[in-house]
Amino acid sequence: MTDTLIPGADELRARASRLDLRTQAFIGGRFVDAASGRRFATENPATGQAFAEVAEGGPEDVDRAVAAARKAADSGAWSRMSPGDRKRILIRWADLIEANADELGLIETLDSGKPIGDTVPLDMPETATCIRWHAEAADKLYGQVAPSPEGTVATIVREPVGVVGAVIPWNYPAQMAAWKLGPALATGNTIVIKPASTTSLSLLRIAELGAEAGIPDGVLNVVPGPGGTVGEAIGRHPDIDAVAFTGSTEVGRQFLHFSAESNLKRVLLELGGKSPQLVFPDVEDFASIAANVALAIFWNMGENCSAGSRLIVHRAVKDRVLEAVQAELAAWAVGDPLDPATKIGALISRGHMERVLRYVQVGREEGARVVAGGEQILEQTGGYFVPPTILDGVRNEMRVAQEEIFGPVLSVIEFETEAEALAIANDTPYGLAASLYTQDLNVAHRVARDLKAGVVGVNGYSEGDMTTPFGGYKLSGFGGHDKSIHAHDQYTELKTVWINVAAR
Ligand code: NAP
Ligand code: MG
Repeated sequence: MTDTLIPGADELRARASRLDLRTQAFIGGRFVDAASGRRFATENPATGQAFAEVAEGGPEDVDRAVAAARKAADSGAWSRMSPGDRKRILIRWADLIEANADELGLIETLDSGKPIGDTVPLDMPETATCIRWHAEAADKLYGQVAPSPEGTVATIVREPVGVVGAVIPWNYPAQMAAWKLGPALATGNTIVIKPASTTSLSLLRIAELGAEAGIPDGVLNVVPGPGGTVGEAIGRHPDIDAVAFTGSTEVGRQFLHFSAESNLKRVLLELGGKSPQLVFPDVEDFASIAANVALAIFWNMGENCSAGSRLIVHRAVKDRVLEAVQAELAAWAVGDPLDPATKIGALISRGHMERVLRYVQVGREEGARVVAGGEQILEQTGGYFVPPTILDGVRNEMRVAQEEIFGPVLSVIEFETEAEALAIANDTPYGLAASLYTQDLNVAHRVARDLKAGVVGVNGYSEGDMTTPFGGYKLSGFGGHDKSIHAHDQYTELKTVWINVAAR
């Protein structure tokens, strides 16, 4: 986290009124209107008010963007640029993002309802860090020489796949973009990326900063617009070589169809989750566990693919853990995302809030007890606010334990034995993340090994950092990973060059 002093909500509102927003598509290095001339409104989820209109891209705009990306790929202007030069441009871009974190964070907060205390000191610096991390690797990746027989030389090299498509969600708009852009651009690809319709604005400004940093025209193209048209056109485009998708499992499945029915483009899927948090009976530091448990489920309004939405807790400590979580929640102020003290802002849309509240009702009908939250608050603001909600007495077969709610709702499930805890934790169609709390090293190792999840946190909630890969098991996705050097694999082709060397 950078040490930024965030001004108060009134000053931020004044700044918001002066923002010069980028609202057109970014194609071939220029901002352009949609071919259809259409625009759509984007709203501020904290007020329910539309505050900008964005170019509504369509298949023609995807065609234009792919043509620009293909031209840039074929020219070699990026893919054959010396890796050191590519690195310098990307690092300059990361520096510009960081230098403009105040403006970008404000845009992100207005468009998404995320707290300014997250977007300015966390989201934007993390976006920059991601791009910088991958950039720094650009000139440190070596190929291989195979142990081929005398009279031959065989090299194994990685080449960019070419044109990458990316379709991303609204929960961390800038960061999710960076998780794709960082590794895909560092490895020499060109890109056509679609932001989520609710949150197009930060990425458009970030793309402009990329051009300012020296990314050549056509290397990075942003086409905002609806998933059903722009997203599908990217998924089906015959001239896109790989598509990276982060979003729901349902739409992820569609991308496999799109690929199968078009050019068999490579598909990378980062999907949903229903991640468990296991608390074993030997724990002692209840305050610290409660802080981590709350962070895991309530951070970013629970709109987090790796949210720890199931608290699987031993019967002997359940009451103490729940008491500590309730006490911890006193520090989780819900309200105006422009107030630096706010920890929980608005949910992304009215429709999503209603879906979250319906799940609370489903939980009640299934026999769960609502012991915190459960209702919309601050209705007079026009915004979509739901406080931290805890459902006690949940059994793992209930819908609120099986289905991804993607909101601030924690389902509490009891267990008695380690085997039972593990069975409950793994009894989900998802497998993205998990965390566990115990002082017993044997339990920690056994359970971490047996959990079917891509990221396991022991005695803390963690997705790791840029050095570690992120990706899921089962319905949480496959085809590659975000973050770390492993993220470079899916954006590169492995090529063998076998050379026969004539004898003297
Ligand atoms: P979503 O509805 O799947 O949307 C994700 C993206 O796909 C958006 O850009 C959306 O465009 C687009 N889209 C929607 N329908 C499409 C279609 N038929 N064809 C092509 N593209 C389409 O998911 P969401 O509601 O934005 O995000 C929540 C989900 O993302 C959750 O399941 C969450 O777990 C998952 N997620 C996963 C990760 C991870 O790394 N594993 C990270 C964050 C979120 P529109 O905005 O226009 O609908
Ligand atoms: Mg919006």
